Amino acid sequence: MHEVSIGAALVDAAIRTAEEERPRRISKIHIEVGELTGLNPDQLRHIFKTTTKKTIIADAELVIKTIKPAIECEECGYKGRVNLVKDFHFNAPQITCPTCKSGEVKITAGNECRLYRITFEKQK
Ligand SMILES: [Zn+2]
Repeated sequence: MHEVSIGAALVDAAIRTAEEERPRRISKIHIEVGELTGLNPDQLRHIFKTTTKKTIIADAELVIKTIKPAIECEECGYKGRVNLVKDFHFNAPQITCPTCKSGEVKITAGNECRLYRITFEKQK
């Protein structure tokens, strides 16, 4: 259940940012979640809802952007998207180059889980 600790870390970061921007109200919190993290967006939403109660960001909407995995192949130089096999197992991702089938690949996207934007409500 690493959603819980990751969710809590994101909430902490959002609250810190929100406090710096006081007294404006936060309307949306945008996070990026890579598909390779195996994080479940619904679960993250739920954690967000329960952990932000009575905080400065309690009414903010959580916007989750899913990041598709991408690689750079060390063998043939391919750069780009990878298709994950259907029975992809999140605990042991097996990623190979779609061009040369090499396993010597560098993951360039899909592992992120970060706060990337906070939207503030306009001051009245
Ligand atoms: Zn390759």
